Amino acid sequence: MTLRQKQCLLMYLGYYDGPVDGIWGERSRQATMDFQHSAGLVPDGIFGQKTEEAILKYIVADPWADIQFFTQAEFACKCGAYCSGYPARMDIRVVKIADRARAHFGAPAEVVSGLRCEVHNRNVGGVANSRHMRGKAIDLRIRGVNAAQLLDYLESEPEVRYAYAINDTNVHLDVE
Ligand SMILES: [Zn+2]
Ligand SMILES: [Zn+2]
Repeated sequence: MTLRQKQCLLMYLGYYDGPVDGIWGERSRQATMDFQHSAGLVPDGIFGQKTEEAILKYIVADPWADIQFFTQAEFACKCGAYCSGYPARMDIRVVKIADRARAHFGAPAEVVSGLRCEVHNRNVGGVANSRHMRGKAIDLRIRGVNAAQLLDYLESEPEVRYAYAINDTNVHLDVE
């Protein structure tokens, strides 16, 4: 696989948004690490044989196939005007965390905020580099569960980088 092809696949999967120029810089390395994280590989940023095999599997597999409770539409940007609804691809790790939380509590869950385009992020008062814009964050609430209980549960999810209560019921969570 050439460096260009590697960048192309990383871009297709939503991990890379730099130029497809075959020059392996910091963004390519970071994108590789992000993908490796998602694929459960050692995130060393080196796009070797194992990463190549894993990414080819991802290209043909539907990462949403084993998501039980959510559809992609539930994570779409809610601006309704400034983007297609999908300014980025949801990081499947976030979706899986939400899915497991939903299963754990056995009650309906709502993605209060998923993907955000820049305009929407600004309009809802998100920070300038919000992970919502990269599909790496959601605001979630689960019926009958308060924010403290949900945060408690999220302690058991090692991939959660940061989680906090937005109010009594809604929790923001994100991954690296
Ligand atoms: Zn939008
Ligand atoms: Zn948030």
